[in-house]
Amino acid sequence: MIDFNRPAFVGKELDYIKDAVQRGMLCGDGEYTKKCSAWMQERFCVNHVMLTTSCTHALEMAAYLADIRPGDEVIMPSYTFVSTADAFVLRGAKIVFVDIRPDTMNMDEKLIEQAVTPKTRAIVPVHYAGVACEMDTIMDIADKYGLKVIEDAAQGVDAFYKGRALGTIGDFGCYSFHETKNYTMGEGGALLFQEEKYLDRAEVLREKGTDRSKFFRGQVDKYRWVDYGSSYLPSELNAAYLFAQLEACEEISGKRMEIYNYYHRNLAGLAREGRIEQPFVPGACTHNAHMYYIKVRDVGVRGRLIQYLRERGICSVFHYVPLHTAPAGQKFGRFAGEDVYTTRESERLLRLPMFYNLDMEDVKQIVDVINKFDGF
Ligand SMILES: *Cc1c(COP(=O)(O)O)cnc(C)c1O
Repeated sequence: MIDFNRPAFVGKELDYIKDAVQRGMLCGDGEYTKKCSAWMQERFCVNHVMLTTSCTHALEMAAYLADIRPGDEVIMPSYTFVSTADAFVLRGAKIVFVDIRPDTMNMDEKLIEQAVTPKTRAIVPVHYAGVACEMDTIMDIADKYGLKVIEDAAQGVDAFYKGRALGTIGDFGCYSFHETKNYTMGEGGALLFQEEKYLDRAEVLREKGTDRSKFFRGQVDKYRWVDYGSSYLPSELNAAYLFAQLEACEEISGKRMEIYNYYHRNLAGLAREGRIEQPFVPGACTHNAHMYYIKVRDVGVRGRLIQYLRERGICSVFHYVPLHTAPAGQKFGRFAGEDVYTTRESERLLRLPMFYNLDMEDVKQIVDVINKFDGF
């Protein structure tokens, strides 16, 4: 069976975990956490990076730091993972869903402005498949109406928009290091921001509402409960695994790109014949080969293709059930305008196996099998 995903394992992970154990500090914010943050600050040109226990938690932190309150409205696509919305629902916000563009599957930037109301406080672009949303337009709308921008860059680590790293363009950026993402620590994520003014509250929020971070830096002589907080810092064991992955970033992304390009070249014939559609990457975007998907005619064809692939030992998957059609989406959100593409495109999309340790022989086999499918 060719799996859909296996977590990357590149080499030094176990050495670093062993080193973390020998250092005698397993809780958060030790040596490896600092190394990961520093590495990302430098590579992505961002002032503050805080490792978190997940992207979901980074989004929760961002929603809190952006001061989202009950009754506020937050604009985002419906075609996304539940956490994008949940983090804001937790603060009592109403979710306003906007349709996607069929070419990138990202929120359609041209539909955002008409979804803005006097209650709107934030826009949450999701960079689907590591392909950037149209950030210039989004930042202009945010400036015009005084809105915060929180980038769900869970899939966008080491991807760029006009040379700027995803997650560093808005007020906050949120990364995921879940094992299904390009770089992993099992479960984990990061919160990114440029502005100094968020730093104190972010540290307190992440450290159970205490000024423990200041205490460790010797800036206060005892640590106390100073504000609302939770526990968002991952252990050193996870950070050690991640640091090995970040160091091997070129190797991991090189391999993913090789797989992506092989799929793209060798399925182009089917696209030319109009049987499938392939991903589109706008000129302003440098993607990170987070996923490879194809789109088929409709949900029926997709179901038959998944079955056909499974019978030949290939695991393929789809996502997402649009949030506005789900029970919680109906309770906490509304769709602004018409759902022209969200449901239709989500039902046609199929993701193919993509992971660092995937054998190129397997990729070749997947392509051959798909090219022989006669049900398109
Ligand atoms: C994976 C993912 C998340 C959640 O990431 P976790 O680290 O598992 O919390 C959120 N948003 C998007 C778009 C994702 O792909």
